[in-house]
Amino acid sequence: MRKLSGKVLIVTGASRGIGAAAARAFAEAGAKVVLAARTSTQIEAIASELRGAGSEAIAVSCDVSNFNDVEAMIEKTIAFAGRVDVLVNNAGVIDPIARLSESDPEQWAKAADINYKGVYFGLRATIPVMERQGSGVIVNISSGAATSALEGWSHYCSSKAAALSLTKCANAEIGGKGIRVVGLSPGTVATDMQVAIKSSGLNPVSTLEWSDHIPPDWVAKAIVWLSSEEASDVAGEDFVLRDPANRQRVGLPTG
Ligand code: NAP
Repeated sequence: MRKLSGKVLIVTGASRGIGAAAARAFAEAGAKVVLAARTSTQIEAIASELRGAGSEAIAVSCDVSNFNDVEAMIEKTIAFAGRVDVLVNNAGVIDPIARLSESDPEQWAKAADINYKGVYFGLRATIPVMERQGSGVIVNISSGAATSALEGWSHYCSSKAAALSLTKCANAEIGGKGIRVVGLSPGTVATDMQVAIKSSGLNPVSTLEWSDHIPPDWVAKAIVWLSSEEASDVAGEDFVLRDPANRQRVGLPTG
């Protein structure tokens, strides 16, 4: 499968979990990959692994809650490969899981800075580049939490709801100019985030078993598909991966 041959893709939060799986899937699909996260040792290791397998990949240290970092990430991508075909705003945090009355205001706000403002910063830095190119896809990794209310997750639910609104607003502004902005709601995924959720003991998501979660590779496959021409009709909304019809379009098991 080389459905993204020669395309230039950026994945934020690429040091582990869904983002690391997406970076590997992008490389397999023939893309040039920029891996971004705060932990540079992990993204350097994955970029080096991808280069060892014959792909073009670089690691860029970036905190998505800092606009200067995000702008620098885009500049480094242009220096690396001359353009930006796809940005995956995947970086996100679930900590600190806490009931509102017990939450730490600084940590709560930091989570919102990453999950919400980080998506805005990615859009703000990338859209002018894509407008100049006349093409591009932005995939914002969303969650069922964007449209639900869960105990201990006020920071997460509200910031994912805000990010979904950004998906809609951005696509309303620039969709149809050869650019698409789409969200992806993956369902629950077997990553470190679910380990943190389990240990919190709060709300029904923490009672799920590891085997209830889908593997990050499935989400990576959906991200590759959403980034490709095959998904050209999908824009301005969250693409919900729990939906069997959507899984079928991506080529994932529906059962
Ligand atoms: P994860 O394993 O905890 O990975 C999160 C990634 O985000 C890491 O690479 C982390 O890297 C990065 N990150 C966190 N804060 C960052 C910041 N300020 N700047 C740059 N990178 C940052 O979580 P995951 O499950 O793969 O989650 C990925 C995305 O999927 C998130 O947006 C999450 O909300 C969403 N999601 C997950 C699930 C699930 O069940 N796992 C379900 C629905 C949606 P560093 O710490 O190195 O920066």
